[in-house]
Amino acid sequence: MLAPWCEFENAEEPVLRHGLTAIDWWDRNAGGVSRQGTLVVTLGRDRRELDRFARRTHGFEEIGGNRLAELEPDLAGRFDRALFFAAEAHLDPRAAMAGLQSGLAERGIAVAADMPRDPGQVIDCRGLAARDILPELRGVRGEMLVLRCPDVTLSRPVRLLHPRVPIYLVPRGDGIFMLGATMIESDRRGVVTARSVMELLSAAFALHPAFGEAEIVETGADARPAFPDNLPRIGRAGGRLYANGLYRHGYLLAPALAMQLADHIDTGERPEFWHETDDQR
Ligand SMILES: Cc1cc2nc3c(=O)[nH]c(=O)nc-3n(C[C@H](O)[C@H](O)[C@H](O)COP(=O)(O)OP(=O)(O)OC[C@H]3O[C@@H](n4cnc5c(N)ncnc54)[C@H](O)[C@@H]3O)c2cc1C
Repeated sequence: MLAPWCEFENAEEPVLRHGLTAIDWWDRNAGGVSRQGTLVVTLGRDRRELDRFARRTHGFEEIGGNRLAELEPDLAGRFDRALFFAAEAHLDPRAAMAGLQSGLAERGIAVAADMPRDPGQVIDCRGLAARDILPELRGVRGEMLVLRCPDVTLSRPVRLLHPRVPIYLVPRGDGIFMLGATMIESDRRGVVTARSVMELLSAAFALHPAFGEAEIVETGADARPAFPDNLPRIGRAGGRLYANGLYRHGYLLAPALAMQLADHIDTGERPEFWHETDDQR
């Protein structure tokens, strides 16, 4: 999702500022960006969650059941209130990465699998694996499922708020949806747990009962690399430059982080996301 307004509910100002420009950046450089906005809904008993969410962000229009049914006919009659963030967007991450790579190839830039021989040319972006040089880095585990559910059509990501298990469904076309994502303070990667699958699927079922008949075509679990303030950092550690800590905002913040890093290499100026460790001060 490219959802800077929704993310601002629980994120710092740079996520909104850079996230807004990231939508155009991905569209220009990778293509395949769908600008249909985001819908945020709650089940009746969690109405207060919607009010709380609305208080903590902006960039939305509060809509009623009729307008919601116009936007997403398959949700007609299921919710009488929603927040519509019209300026948000989404993309298919794998298609976006392939788009980026082919754009580079057109400009004669190859993506190499081997490390450069000159260590001075290395920028460390190993995510959580860089904890050997960045001890403040922690993992925030995220699990997701890819579902095939041809009985439901959605045109945009839908977030279902819940005090404990908020979920989102991102349509990928042809009846495919990404259902995500857990947020667990853990650096455990690997396979999804039974509890997370049950919680994600029950919430999707509550959003629309047709998800009870969905096929699970993929599961995934990863650990988001995060610093204590959940903002990314550029700095020097272990004798090299690093960029890390994208947390849950890799797609929203990677363009800004990469451009700041490139400017720093060009000009030596300190980027906004620069972080100095105590022994460098
Ligand atoms: C379920 C889930 C849903 C998400 N949804 C969104 C979303 O909707 N929008 C959004 O903006 N963000 C989202 N995120 C967050 C986003 O995925 C992360 O912010 C992003 O992946 C962080 O990117 P990164 O490249 O810094 O780290 P990583 O993605 O962890 O990548 C690090 C890479 O370094 C490689 N590596 C490790 N060691 C070495 C080595 N020694 N040599 C070479 N390579 C090495 C690893 O193999 C890996 O490929 C989501 C995350 C999860 C888990």
